Amino acid sequence: MTTPTLTDALTQADDSLLTSLPKSDLHNHGMLGFRRDVLRQLYNADLKEPPAKFQVFKEFEDYLNHTLGPYIPQEGFFEHSLRNAFLQAKADGIRVLQMSIDSRFYYYLPGSMMTDIVERAHKECAPEIAFYPQLGMDRAHNFNRLMHEVENLLDTGFFKSIDLYGDELHGSVDDFIPIYKKAQQMGLILTAHVGEYGSAESVRTTAETLQLDQIQHGIAAANSVEVMQWLAKQKILLNVCPSSNVALCRAISLEHHPIRTLFDHGVRVSINTDDLFVFNQSVSDEYRNLHKAGVFHAEELEQIRQYGLQAFEA
Ligand SMILES: [Zn+2]
Repeated sequence: MTTPTLTDALTQADDSLLTSLPKSDLHNHGMLGFRRDVLRQLYNADLKEPPAKFQVFKEFEDYLNHTLGPYIPQEGFFEHSLRNAFLQAKADGIRVLQMSIDSRFYYYLPGSMMTDIVERAHKECAPEIAFYPQLGMDRAHNFNRLMHEVENLLDTGFFKSIDLYGDELHGSVDDFIPIYKKAQQMGLILTAHVGEYGSAESVRTTAETLQLDQIQHGIAAANSVEVMQWLAKQKILLNVCPSSNVALCRAISLEHHPIRTLFDHGVRVSINTDDLFVFNQSVSDEYRNLHKAGVFHAEELEQIRQYGLQAFEA
């Protein structure tokens, strides 16, 4: 008997097979990796639904502050959200998970408290998942505090990857060169959010400046054949989040999502959730949506699934 593939699941519209197939999620913000209903049940929370589209990034940040803000400082929130993010990933057949953990939780959980909770959540909720804990840095966070948190968290030796996110147009990535150098020396995978709000050129310059192994989003690269050729040659993986890009008005629609152009130019892409709490689409949902919208044939999505699963193979 041959092993079933995404092609079988999509062409036969077999949702349970689609869910059970091993998949990756390499662009997943841990505190936002579970569904809104989980928060409603946990805290009896009265949550507003997000708008279908966020016209500007600040609208998105405001939505998060309004819905999650009151719960973040509460004891147990960090653990609850992580455990539910692992359970969600497991239920969707995720077998390779790169999940970012925001450095700011170090303020509430100093020393090894934060990493101990993450490790326990993985072991107890989804030990079958190959987990790559990613140290997440917000560009807009106070720089000195950020460096203090990140230095301490890197020294725990727990993290396998590092990421930079938040307002892409805020500040200069040059400030982060020393921390990326340190992370590289420690053998971490280097990633950053770029080319979501910025240009194709910013994708290349940021990748060169920080020596990135993977790029979170990077979809603006589709505007430059030269940058796409460079990415393809460097074999840099772009961890794309289609529903997020449409909701944040970074792509006009799923049908016209630039992931098709990137793929056609030989750029390696993977399909990911970004913030399931807001966009409400699992990785399986994303594959199904792209197939239904006619963006990719099932065989192409199978190739993309393999890119994701092989992301950490040398
Ligand atoms: Zn993201």
